[in-house]
Amino acid sequence: MTVPGARLLEGGAIAAEIRTAVAEDVATFAAGQGRAPGLRVVIVGKDAPSTVYLERILRGCAKVGIGAGFVELEGEATEAKVTATVRELNADPTVDGVIVQMPLPGTIRLRAVIDAIDPGKDIDGIHPLNAGLLRLGYDGFLPATAHAAVEILRRSAIEIEGRDAVVVGRSAVVGMPAAFLLVKEDATVTVCHRRTRDLAGHVRRADIVVVAAGRPGLITGAMLKPGAVVVDVGINVVDGHLVGDVDFETARQVASAITPVPGGVGPLTNALLLTHLIRAAERQAAERAAGQSSPMPFEAAASRGDR
Ligand code: NAD
Repeated sequence: MTVPGARLLEGGAIAAEIRTAVAEDVATFAAGQGRAPGLRVVIVGKDAPSTVYLERILRGCAKVGIGAGFVELEGEATEAKVTATVRELNADPTVDGVIVQMPLPGTIRLRAVIDAIDPGKDIDGIHPLNAGLLRLGYDGFLPATAHAAVEILRRSAIEIEGRDAVVVGRSAVVGMPAAFLLVKEDATVTVCHRRTRDLAGHVRRADIVVVAAGRPGLITGAMLKPGAVVVDVGINVVDGHLVGDVDFETARQVASAITPVPGGVGPLTNALLLTHLIRAAERQAAERAAGQSSPMPFEAAASRGDR
């Protein structure tokens, strides 16, 4: 017997489409401003996973003509040194976006660093102003992963409006922003977390399941409602292989559509980060031309699906 299996929601083709649009915007920006838009990634101490992530960002930027680089601080750097570095980048008119690579060493308060980022350059949406704009349903910069989790549904023509969605995970950078975005898309949303009593019961009622827990195999096919759409945000290394939080083989036999890991949310995350960067660059250039500065990001550029 052959099992039909779920439709695969792959991020690669969507990401390529987005990169083509961004490359055009980057060329227009560069022609008008006489320089490429610029991104700086602040990295404190080097560990292997963040190096891989960093290289991926730099490669993605190079492909579309964004001038990206990193500022590397020693692992023993103080909080004052990190925040001073971020402020220097805030003040540099050739830097349009700033990302601070997480995790930071335990001696540095995350909040102090996040607060130091200029919200207008906060292209991964971690500053409280951008988090607050999302919470209120306004357009600020979105955390790229949460953005990708919902954008992959929109771009795959999956209906969100009116449907029951469960988000597994409530982190400030993935779970909660994904939940707020789904609410904004008119889904009815339940957020589950490690203290949720009946995870399977909640998941079984959901038309859309977004999983961002960092637990391989947490969601299995047996927990899903037949025909559910599954977005697997998890990235875990098991026996040297990259896997998500969803048990793919059982889930794909019950779901109507599912994102693979790798190749689902990940590629889209990187592409969307580029859209955030060009949007930040365009906005700052417009502000400079108008001789003003405002901490409120512009409304979304809908043509790039950037919302
Ligand atoms: P996190 O550790 O900050 O948060 C995990 C969340 O999952 C918590 O809210 C926790 O309550 C919940 N959780 C943990 N175990 C659970 C369980 N047994 N049942 C229900 N809920 C449970 O992690 P994060 O930063 O939000 O990342 C989540 C996952 O997404 C990780 O696998 C991470 O690697 C991945 N991630 C992917 C991308 C991407 O581009 N695809 C980017 C960032 C993070």
